[in-house]
Amino acid sequence: MKKFIFAFSIFTHLVGSHWLDDYIASIPDFPKPGIQFKCYPDLLKNPPAFKRLIREFADRYRDSDLDCIVGLDSRGFIFGAALAYEMELPFVMIRKAGKLPRKVERIDYQLEYGTATFEIEVESLNRDDRVLIMDDLLATGGTAQAAAELVERVGGQVVEVACLIELAGLGGREKLKRPFYAPISIEVDE
Ligand code: AMP
Repeated sequence: MKKFIFAFSIFTHLVGSHWLDDYIASIPDFPKPGIQFKCYPDLLKNPPAFKRLIREFADRYRDSDLDCIVGLDSRGFIFGAALAYEMELPFVMIRKAGKLPRKVERIDYQLEYGTATFEIEVESLNRDDRVLIMDDLLATGGTAQAAAELVERVGGQVVEVACLIELAGLGGREKLKRPFYAPISIEVDE
């Protein structure tokens, strides 16, 4: 039987230290018992810290010759749109099923229970556009992997996938099989 992120999330510890650590909260037993939900409301409520984070991402990608930033529904929109604004790049959404009105490419992917569907508008990218994909957190990698495949199906090249947080030890990077970066890595202890 497939093991899922939330089943692994009972205990976690930070790998190394980072100025962002103080802004990451772990909420036990949300949305269900045994889950350690990672959230960061204090980061979003602190303009200098939020700005610093976005500027650090921008510094990382300044010389990457990006054409576009793709944000994942829904928390990837927070960081992706802010970074696109900072870098003066186009921003494109990958949304959950049924939200995009024009012609879409779609992909089903695995969630904790059952599957979900992501969609991207087929004309949202130009052929060979160099794309950065942004979400808030990488766990088992299914979400990011599905997004990368969608970007490639509509003609984009995935330069990197970036998140605020990586839950390490869940095989997310291996599943993704594309370059990945997160400033914060949190080891998940079984
Ligand atoms: P995965 O597909 O397993 O890599 O899951 C990543 C997606 O699920 C991201 O969009 C996250 O926002 C969300 N997610 C998964 N696990 C957690 C967690 N422990 N805390 C907060 N968000 C999570």
